[in-house]
Amino acid sequence: MKQVDIKNSDEKITIGKVVCLGKNYAAHAKEMGGETPKFPIIFLKTATCLIPSGGEVIHPDYSNNLHHEIEFVLIIGKDVKNATEEEAEDAIAGYAVGLDMTLRDLQFEYKEKGEPWTLAKVFDTSGVITPVVLKSDYQLRGNERIFLNVNGEKRQDSTLDKMLFNAVATVQHISKKMTLEKGDLIFTGTPEGVGRVVSGDKIFGGIENIGEIEATIV
Ligand code: MG
Repeated sequence: MKQVDIKNSDEKITIGKVVCLGKNYAAHAKEMGGETPKFPIIFLKTATCLIPSGGEVIHPDYSNNLHHEIEFVLIIGKDVKNATEEEAEDAIAGYAVGLDMTLRDLQFEYKEKGEPWTLAKVFDTSGVITPVVLKSDYQLRGNERIFLNVNGEKRQDSTLDKMLFNAVATVQHISKKMTLEKGDLIFTGTPEGVGRVVSGDKIFGGIENIGEIEATIV
C-alpha cells in the first residue's frame, strides 16, 4: 500500500516513512512493565506493511502472540525539521486511525537480548490504516475517544488527552531527530488494553470524529 485515501476527496497521499511512538499512554507503559518515558520512544514501520481498513491481517507462523494496538495517526503535509510549535502544528495535514499489529513474543525476546525489535513490527499486513481526515475538514479537540473491540468485546477504550506527548509535541520531537517529509505517517502509540488475537478474530475500532477501522485475522 503506497498511497492512502483522503476522506471527501479523489486525491490520495503517497506514503513516505512510518514513524511510531512507544509507551505514549501511562497506563499502557505500566501494563508493558516499564516506566513512563521522559521522551517519546521512537521506532519505524515500513510503508510495505500497510493495508487499508477492512483488510486481512495475516498471522505469521513464527509467532504465538500477535497483539492489537489501536492508534491515532498523524499525516505530515509538508517537510519540516527542528520544528517550532507553530511549524509542527502547520506540518500536520490530517489524521487517521491505525492498527500497529505487533508480535509481542518476538518483541520481548529481542528486548531481552538488547536487539532491535524491528521484526516484531514490520511483517506484511502489520499496519492497518483508514482514509485520512484533513485538518481543514475536522479541528481536533484533543480528547476524542479511542477504542478497540475484538469479536464485539471491548479491549481498549481511552481518550486522546491521555497521550503523554500530544500531536504537536510529537512532531516537534521527531523533527529534531530526523526530517519529516510530506506523506510521512506518525503512529502515536496505543492506550492500555493490548492483547492477543488469533486467526478468525475480527477487530473493530475507531476514534471519535476521525474514523472506524476493521480487520480480520487470518
Ligand atoms: Mg504501537
